[in-house]
Amino acid sequence: MPVVRTPPPAVTGPVLAIDIGGTKLAAALLDADGRVLTDRRTPTRADTASAEEIYASLTQLADDVAGGRPITGVGVGCGGPMEWPAGRVSPLNIPAWLGFPLRERLAEHFPGLPVRLHNDAVCVAAGEHWRGAGRGSRNLLGMVISTGVGGGLVLDGRLVDGESGNAGHIGHVVVEPDGPSCVCGGQGCLEAVARGPAVVRWARDHGWAGPPGASGPELVTDATAGDPVAIAALHRAGRAAGIAIASATALCDLEVVSIGGGLSAAGDLLMAPLLDAVRRYARLPFARGVRVVSAELGQSAGLVGAAALVLAADRYWSADAVTGSSATKPASSSATRSGHSSGSR
Ligand SMILES: [Zn+2]
Repeated sequence: MPVVRTPPPAVTGPVLAIDIGGTKLAAALLDADGRVLTDRRTPTRADTASAEEIYASLTQLADDVAGGRPITGVGVGCGGPMEWPAGRVSPLNIPAWLGFPLRERLAEHFPGLPVRLHNDAVCVAAGEHWRGAGRGSRNLLGMVISTGVGGGLVLDGRLVDGESGNAGHIGHVVVEPDGPSCVCGGQGCLEAVARGPAVVRWARDHGWAGPPGASGPELVTDATAGDPVAIAALHRAGRAAGIAIASATALCDLEVVSIGGGLSAAGDLLMAPLLDAVRRYARLPFARGVRVVSAELGQSAGLVGAAALVLAADRYWSADAVTGSSATKPASSSATRSGHSSGSR
């Protein structure tokens, strides 16, 4: 489907950014340059709360952060899968939200304002490209290696959405055709090998004696202390990520790959085998030049990227020209001036 990009209206900020994860909900106000002015977090309570209770904490958090100040738009990152750009979300880590019409509900909560939503890993990639490790590059893959493995693609300076908003989903690139089964129903995907729980499981299967209930952070601690099985588990994950990056680089002629997410806290234990694999498998001269770097924005990457959907829409948002829904069109100038007052509903 051809995408017609129309020049967006100038945004002077501030913009409300929301980042929705299985553990916590985060909201921030960012100025027009993408600087975080204020931010807050609250537990998602994904295991105990109903869909409406989670949504109520989200809007409460958003209204608290907005603090009654006029805002010019709302950008949201949320875990997938989702119907994009309609924004009906079914995050794997928030089971109560099954087909939850998040974008529509937020558009009702913030009438007259543009509300734009993308996959959380796509937002991280947009954030790292706009204000993080990929600043100034034209072709970037932004990766998150955490409980899952996700990513987003920027090519020729613009975020690539793909047919359904899933372009850049490197977690389901196959790195071991005969490898472990994946949550997607496939086999040998990068995510099946390198996501935190898979790394921990492999370590357990190979004799790692971490404490009961231990997860990625404990494994990284033990690897740092020299535990050979923990080191081998991270090595295997890093190598798999490097193989996927080499393939992505060949396919997309990348300049930069940024790597963030919880497991990247392992540092060289993950990055050294990862870089070795990139060097080994990315052989063509153009692919050898790819720079693989750690993400810079840390926990705020998703918020900065969500804000970029509004603040730098010419590069990071293409959907409204396609959907044409009245709830999702950019705000008129009068709505932009009057903005949103918290507690007005
Ligand atoms: Zn998969």
